[in-house]
Amino acid sequence: MKIAVYPGSFDPVTCGHLDVIKRAAKVFDKLIVGVLVNSEKECAFSSKMRVDMIEKLSLPQNVEVISFDGLLVNFMRENNANILVRGLRAVSDYEYECQIAWINKKLMANCDTFFIPTAEEYAYLSSSIVREIARYNGDLTGLVPEELHSLIKDKLEV
Ligand code: ADP
Repeated sequence: MKIAVYPGSFDPVTCGHLDVIKRAAKVFDKLIVGVLVNSEKECAFSSKMRVDMIEKLSLPQNVEVISFDGLLVNFMRENNANILVRGLRAVSDYEYECQIAWINKKLMANCDTFFIPTAEEYAYLSSSIVREIARYNGDLTGLVPEELHSLIKDKLEV
């Protein structure tokens, strides 16, 4: 059984993330969306909210959402996963993503990273852009799934 993990902060989840989730779920038997809890980043949304927002979306049946802290490879071992999925937007993502992929391979020899290029329409999209737009009550259409708009704005709008 091919079990893959798609890790990230998802602060909040965007249409770009959802697109990666749906495409990866077609390739692997099971896809675990791993929501990172104790990253160095300060998140705008609690880990519970970040998980809840992803779970609110209509996800393929073979997708599970789990939060984790500590080392990603340990989380993968706990879940019998040896495949990592990451999205690539621009060349600027590439260097950092390769570094992470090499480190994870060093820590877990049978771990392989699969990159999915972003859908063209989401190439400019990031969680930080979404937070900025939400803060000033901008239109989130096409950036974040509809069912999350009010939740995100309630939390962030100034
Ligand atoms: P991290 O803090 O690990 O970068 P993110 O939540 O920002 O977590 O992103 C998680 C993953 O989703 C990363 O692989 C990132 O490159 C990818 N990603 C982010 N935005 C998009 C997008 N618009 N299209 C495709 N992939 C994306």
